[in-house]
Amino acid sequence: MSVPTAAADQTICAPLPVLGADVTIPLVTGGDVTYAALDYAASSPALQRVWDDVAAYAPYYGSVHRGAGYLSQLSTDLFETSRATVAEFLGCRAEDQVVFTRSTTDSLNLLAAALPAGCQVFVFETEHHASLLPWRDARVTYLDAPRTPDQAVATLEKALAARDPHGPALVCVTGASNVTGELWPVRELAAAAHAHGARIVLDAAQLAPHHPVDIAELDVDWVAFSGHKLYAPFGSGVLAGRADWLVDAEPYLAGGGASRKVARRADGGVDVEWHTTAARHEAGSPNVIGVYSIAAACKALTEAGFDRLVDREQQLVTRVREGLAGVPEVKVLSLFGDDAPRVGVLSFVVEGWNSSHFAAALSAEYGIGVRDGLFCAHPLVRTLLGSEPQDPGECGAPDAAPGERSLNAIRVSFGAGT
Ligand code: PLP
Repeated sequence: MSVPTAAADQTICAPLPVLGADVTIPLVTGGDVTYAALDYAASSPALQRVWDDVAAYAPYYGSVHRGAGYLSQLSTDLFETSRATVAEFLGCRAEDQVVFTRSTTDSLNLLAAALPAGCQVFVFETEHHASLLPWRDARVTYLDAPRTPDQAVATLEKALAARDPHGPALVCVTGASNVTGELWPVRELAAAAHAHGARIVLDAAQLAPHHPVDIAELDVDWVAFSGHKLYAPFGSGVLAGRADWLVDAEPYLAGGGASRKVARRADGGVDVEWHTTAARHEAGSPNVIGVYSIAAACKALTEAGFDRLVDREQQLVTRVREGLAGVPEVKVLSLFGDDAPRVGVLSFVVEGWNSSHFAAALSAEYGIGVRDGLFCAHPLVRTLLGSEPQDPGECGAPDAAPGERSLNAIRVSFGAGT
């Protein structure tokens, strides 16, 4: 297989009837391949603006925080300016820190490593594994899947009311589901958490690419998201929010960049004074291109105007939902019901079809790339499908035999950013 050439200026009318003839989606061409990737929830295609910004900076790439030369100075400046851009994009408070990580998974693992002693964690079983699993060394309460946003708040309230009120506590919640696309009542959950003396971290991996996320307005304590889902490739992520737990914690990685002063002790050991800034958790040479591309994407989305992007995306969501509703064999998966607001992420099953075969056929016969499986949210997908636990492997799922009920689902995801 050879690498196809991206034709960013070209678009294609999707051949899938459910999308409608005038819906245009980004096209990748290569040899005889014409392909539309509707898998934005996994990784969204980079914005042209991000490619352009990175291409303009790439010849001047240099080490960050480590050199006296011009390229180092420039790179350090762009790195720190990128931090300020992300802080502005997220509406950070003055006391917040923006830590650059590799991804949402990395950000949430960093926060998990920074929990104060005895911290209780509350997390819905419906979360993506990146939000579900990092807390297992803490005292975790897994909350049952709610069936309405109000029930989510009531479930959390009840669990928090029963907790030891003296110790620290953290709630972890997604902003938009990577399976159903449904929006979670983040403001209300944050209010409930704070009313019970707990803090809250928002997994914005699927929310930030589709909606403005304002940390102060939502009144959440931390936000985590990934560059590659926000139209910015190159492997970077963000954890933004309250500095105190982060500053009190041991560095996530020990090494250069995180340490301010290192000296041998008389007894032969080593004393370290760690930074109290975001650098504390950014040891090693940072991913400067990744960070720069996140900032470029933040700027591009802000300049494009989120209101316009949200409107456009909602039109697409409506079109896709109407199209799917016209196919009797299709069942769209939903936790909160058909009318629940959602971003451009929808999962469904097709009666009589094995989801893996259906997704493969979409790719092979129509040039439409979707995802099938359990989407790294096994408990949620099982709840939605009503199936018994299987052994699905890491993020996939076993094939159902022809004619059997599908054990997994098909996900189509898109955004208005490109
Ligand atoms: N949270 C949600 C809701 C996601 O959809 C994903 C990825 O699909 C993640 C977290 C993890 O993101 P990453 O793989 O970039 O760490």
